[in-house]
Amino acid sequence: MGYVQGDYTLQEAQEQVGKGWHGLLYELYMLRQFYPSVKVAQVKEKFGDLRFYVDGATEEWYNKATPIIDRSMNTCEECGRPGKIRPTGWVMTLCSRHYLRMLLFNKYVRRNKVRQIKSTLRRRQNANSRNSQRR
Ligand SMILES: [Zn+2]
Repeated sequence: MGYVQGDYTLQEAQEQVGKGWHGLLYELYMLRQFYPSVKVAQVKEKFGDLRFYVDGATEEWYNKATPIIDRSMNTCEECGRPGKIRPTGWVMTLCSRHYLRMLLFNKYVRRNKVRQIKSTLRRRQNANSRNSQRR
């Protein structure tokens, strides 16, 4: 992930999103061959769908590209299978398998975060009680 100046290559575009959307990007780049004025300025996932920002687009390009881009809203970003928008802490488009995996992962992260906070508090309390004993 990084900022790419100017016109993204297909590979640079694919590096910005999950594997499941690489096919959509491939289609967009095939289409782009017929529209040399189109420059890809930015590619990213936002609120569960693919954002494909271009310069120099014509209305005809938009009419053809929009249905491809919109398919990201029902394509799992992880594997490319049929998916839908899921509230995962951040919004992602996922199939049920990857949604379940994400939920389990979030639970794991939350549990560890709670553990971390608890041990930090304990360390602070111990430090405080040591300090007060010294006084
Ligand atoms: Zn999936």
